[in-house]
Amino acid sequence: MRRADGSLAHHAGGDSQPFSSRSISYRHPNVLLDLPLGEPVDLLVRVQSQSSMQVPLVLYTQTAFTEIARDAQLAIGVYYGILLALFFYNLVLWLTLRDGSYFWYLFHISAFGMVLFCLNGLGFEYLWPNNTWLADKSVPLSISLALIGMHQFARVFLELPQRWPAGNQVSVAAIVLFVAFGIAATVVPYRVITQVVSLAVLASIVWISVVTVVVLRRGYTPARLFLLSWAMFLSGTAVFTLVAFGLVPKRFVTEYGVQIGSALEMLFLSIALSYRYGALRKENERIVYEANQRLERKVAQRTQDVRSAMLQLEDAHARLGESSRRDALTGLYHRGHFHEAFERMLADTNASGRPLSLLIVDLDHFKAINDQHGHLVGDACLRAAAQRIGRALRPHDALLARFGGEEFVVALPGHALAAAVAIAEEVRQALVAEPCDVQGLRVRVSASLGVHTIEPGTIDDVDLGFEIADRALYAAKANGRNCVRTSLSAA
Ligand code: GH3
Ligand code: MG
Ligand code: MG
Repeated sequence: MRRADGSLAHHAGGDSQPFSSRSISYRHPNVLLDLPLGEPVDLLVRVQSQSSMQVPLVLYTQTAFTEIARDAQLAIGVYYGILLALFFYNLVLWLTLRDGSYFWYLFHISAFGMVLFCLNGLGFEYLWPNNTWLADKSVPLSISLALIGMHQFARVFLELPQRWPAGNQVSVAAIVLFVAFGIAATVVPYRVITQVVSLAVLASIVWISVVTVVVLRRGYTPARLFLLSWAMFLSGTAVFTLVAFGLVPKRFVTEYGVQIGSALEMLFLSIALSYRYGALRKENERIVYEANQRLERKVAQRTQDVRSAMLQLEDAHARLGESSRRDALTGLYHRGHFHEAFERMLADTNASGRPLSLLIVDLDHFKAINDQHGHLVGDACLRAAAQRIGRALRPHDALLARFGGEEFVVALPGHALAAAVAIAEEVRQALVAEPCDVQGLRVRVSASLGVHTIEPGTIDDVDLGFEIADRALYAAKANGRNCVRTSLSAA
């Protein structure tokens, strides 16, 4: 300041001086001038910077300055308040979920907050007021850190290594580059490093947009929110740039474009993180659900297999049981089964008061058939005879079995003697009706039949019943064969 009388007052400020040298403890350099009343003075300003610098020169009264500073202070407070809230919110999430993307979000938000903190002059004011070296290096350093965090966050969040390996390699290279910039920032002059870093920042902004779009087009939906938050940040920065070049009027919204944009970006990224976490969890649940479904289907299939195997087994068992009760040559029940069934019928007869008749059928001169035609023809005749007897008995409630050799037995529950004799006669006639066709031969077959009817309450010994019927059979044989005799006529 040069007064009219030629006396000079000299002030020096800026970040090459300790913070305490400022007239007022304020984040931007300032000088307290004691202007004389009614006297012209010259104010000469010399500015020196290694890079571009906005130097708005304004004279305030102390009251006006306080008013202006209050608003700006509030805006800054709100901005860092949002950043701090998001930081701690995501810190808690990171500590509980231990998901790497939360860590890199924290890293990015801290480093980016630090960039603006330094650009606003707050770092120098609050963090290192006496360290002019750090005040000089803090901006390129924090920008490098912020970009390392941003690239790394994008890689982890967008799952680049799996979703786009080639793009992932470029991002890794970018991270290495910013690590190099960070180290270089401590030695290379501010002017040089800021220009190089600014270019790299521009390239990074474009690159991260490209990566996000590519991953989104490959079907990764969480990338949509990521893209949205990135767009917030970019438009905030764009508005700020337009203001800086005077292309857009300076208003609160436009002047604090970067802050508003980045606050929104951080907010949306935080939402994107929780969305991604939700998507991952849903995906996990889906995988578990599908695995369970598959398992259930498999178990159901196995159960079905086991069940049908069991059914087959049961069926085979039943068939085995049945075949064990049947005679291999004629397919009729054999003597053992007949004996058991007849015992039950006898008990029923004694309980119900209904008669039970027993027939014994013995083929006549069967030995002669064997002798004449051979055993195989004999077998075929046995089968044919069994079939004819079975057919003759079909209309009646009868149980037929092969008693042994060329003898058959028939139980007729509920049949009195007369009815039993009539049926016996039917059987006899069925056998002699016509010769059996056996291997081109016509073989005559006849049988003698013994009939015995057990009246209820008379006997309860099965063998005695057989014995009496057998006697009737003998009577038939004795009477010239091919006839029916009863126990009564035999006696
Ligand atoms: P009868 O009129 O007195 O009953 O004379 P038969 O020859 O039929 O009686 P016998 O008891 O003397 O002979 C029964 C014959 O039946 C003896 C045996 O060769 C024949 N035979 C028994 N079982 C079978 C068989 O499974 N297959 C064949 N082919 N013959 C059998
Ligand atoms: Mg016999
Ligand atoms: Mg015989």
